[in-house]
Amino acid sequence: MAEAAPTGKSVPKAALDPLDLYGVRAALSEEERLVQDSVARLVDTEVLPVIQEAFEQHRFPRELVPKLAELGLLGSSLAGYDCAGLNAVCYGLICQELERGDSGIRSFVSVQSSLCMYPIHAFGSEEQKQRYLPRMARGEVIGCFGLTEPQGGSDPANMKTHAKRRGGDWVLNGAKMWITNGAIADLAVVWAVTPEGIRGFLVEKGSPGFTAPEIEHKFSLRASVTAALYLDNVVVPEERVLPGVVGLKGPLSCLTQARYGITWGVIGAAQACLRQMLDYTASRTLFGRALAQNQTIQVRLADMARRITSAQLLSLHLGRMKDEGTMQPVQVSLAKWNNCRMALDIARDARDMLGGAGISAEYVPIRHMLNLESVITYEGTETIHQLTVGRELTGFNAF
Ligand SMILES: Cc1cc2nc3c(=O)[nH]c(=O)nc-3n(C[C@H](O)[C@H](O)[C@H](O)COP(=O)(O)OP(=O)(O)OC[C@H]3O[C@@H](n4cnc5c(N)ncnc54)[C@H](O)[C@@H]3O)c2cc1C
Repeated sequence: MAEAAPTGKSVPKAALDPLDLYGVRAALSEEERLVQDSVARLVDTEVLPVIQEAFEQHRFPRELVPKLAELGLLGSSLAGYDCAGLNAVCYGLICQELERGDSGIRSFVSVQSSLCMYPIHAFGSEEQKQRYLPRMARGEVIGCFGLTEPQGGSDPANMKTHAKRRGGDWVLNGAKMWITNGAIADLAVVWAVTPEGIRGFLVEKGSPGFTAPEIEHKFSLRASVTAALYLDNVVVPEERVLPGVVGLKGPLSCLTQARYGITWGVIGAAQACLRQMLDYTASRTLFGRALAQNQTIQVRLADMARRITSAQLLSLHLGRMKDEGTMQPVQVSLAKWNNCRMALDIARDARDMLGGAGISAEYVPIRHMLNLESVITYEGTETIHQLTVGRELTGFNAF
């Protein structure tokens, strides 16, 4: 029987990337790898140097917007209108690398791309597309997406914000809550109830009766702007209504796009935590040996790698299905639930393995952990995604 290496002796390392044990990178196309590398460089040189301070100061590093735009990361998967027209896997990799930096930066790009540019691209008139999309791709117009209301985001069918016709215009009244980018947005896609059903309204900043105060005192996504939106008799002309969709399927189809990106994004946050824990546990000595030499520490690190690997394979497969046009919303729910839970658990465990140092922003896990508390909640809470999968399995709607 082969003898185990004596405790304390290191064994030769396999040439596997600990953050990519199944070689997902090798399954990418040349273009996908190039996109990943260019975003990784941006994160290393522009995001990581400023993000800790921005998070501590509760400040969105807006100076990054032109750099994100220059790389083609805003509306990257849309075709035409100065957008990059990349595939879904590229969009996923963009989210993954950005969230390796910070969930707040990835949130900015998700909202701009999937929640604001996507509905204009999918449901807008030609005039609306020409007016907004090229400027949004250049980062000159910042967008937000107003669906959630104060009385409960999980039940968007209970929407109170409404629009009534007045001559050739619409008059909007209501309130939206927890809106990413809200206070810095030049354009809000606001979903409101009309006599015909729920419709999307393009509300420009400065419209009389429209205000977007920032929500302060957040302990999560501190490097992202979150706001309430108030609409008090806001007049929106007919040409600012999205003509191509009526009903909840409008906002829900946007959420499917954004949630798909989140499934990739959170992998980046988890990878950042595992990377730091591999370094930390190798260099910290307790009881006369490296922390990484303890069995329970190795089990915890191995469990992180197991969960990251599963999430990577899930997202890659989902991305390929999205590119083939076969991806179903319930599959996105499963992946959003699985991957957010994976990343949050890893960030919490990494924070614990750092001991006291784990409460310091000098190490990344606590920032990722706090951010992921939002990411697991927004775009459908974990429970909502579980119930979506449950409905698919049983045929019973348990909401
Ligand atoms: C930082 C941040 C940014 C956000 N950005 C945006 C944005 O840009 N645009 C936007 O429109 N929204 C945004 N949101 C809102 C987000 O989508 C909602 O917070 C989320 O959908 C949950 O809604 P809620 O907060 O009203 O919680 P609620 O819907 O009140 O849910 C409260 C709790 O009840 C549970 N629950 C709900 N229904 C059931 C049920 N049937 N059975 C069992 N449990 C249930 C939920 O899982 C949750 O635990 C953001 C939120 C945050 C925190």
